[in-house]
Amino acid sequence: MTTLVQDAHWTALAACGAGKLAPDALFVEGAAQREARAVCTACPVRLACLADALDNRMDFGVWGGMTERERRALLRRHPQVPSWRKMFEAAMEKDFLTLAERKSGIILRFNLDAALRGDFKSRQDGLAIQRRNGIINGNEWRERENMNPLSEEDGGEDYWVESGVTVVGAEPGTPGGPPAPQPPKPAPAPAKVKTCEQWM
Ligand code: SF4
Repeated sequence: MTTLVQDAHWTALAACGAGKLAPDALFVEGAAQREARAVCTACPVRLACLADALDNRMDFGVWGGMTERERRALLRRHPQVPSWRKMFEAAMEKDFLTLAERKSGIILRFNLDAALRGDFKSRQDGLAIQRRNGIINGNEWRERENMNPLSEEDGGEDYWVESGVTVVGAEPGTPGGPPAPQPPKPAPAPAKVKTCEQWM
């Protein structure tokens, strides 16, 4: 799998960033919003910006060329979308890559480090918690990091269960259940004692 991501976090490329606009220029109301969002038209990171705003339910301001009203209406019309970032990434792959490129494993991803995906350490800490608690397996972790899966033999599909954790109601001896009762150990054979007569 080959991943093509933006080189930098999307905000570094924003047409409204780095002092190009007044800090509150995109947080205006009414007709001023139309003028404000004109700057988004040619912004190279418009989709990443919009995905970030939709997924994080940004309540105020112009983001990705949409006002808060327009974003609210879009969210209402499509409540079934769990991740706008993933949806945009899939759409870009469909529109920008050839079939051969897609088959060769090339994928497109926004670089949203420190935004949706979280900074690297926080993301790994969160995934480690899920892994330790048996919520994800190794391959699900790797998929989120755009890494190739491990084979089943290498444990890629295995889930972990913390030792000492018992599932309430689970049968003894089943996964998550208490240990099965062991058969009683046979009583030790009585020690052989020689009588006085035997010594003589
Ligand atoms: S799309 Fe608009 S709000 Fe978003 S980064 Fe670009 S210029 Fe700024």
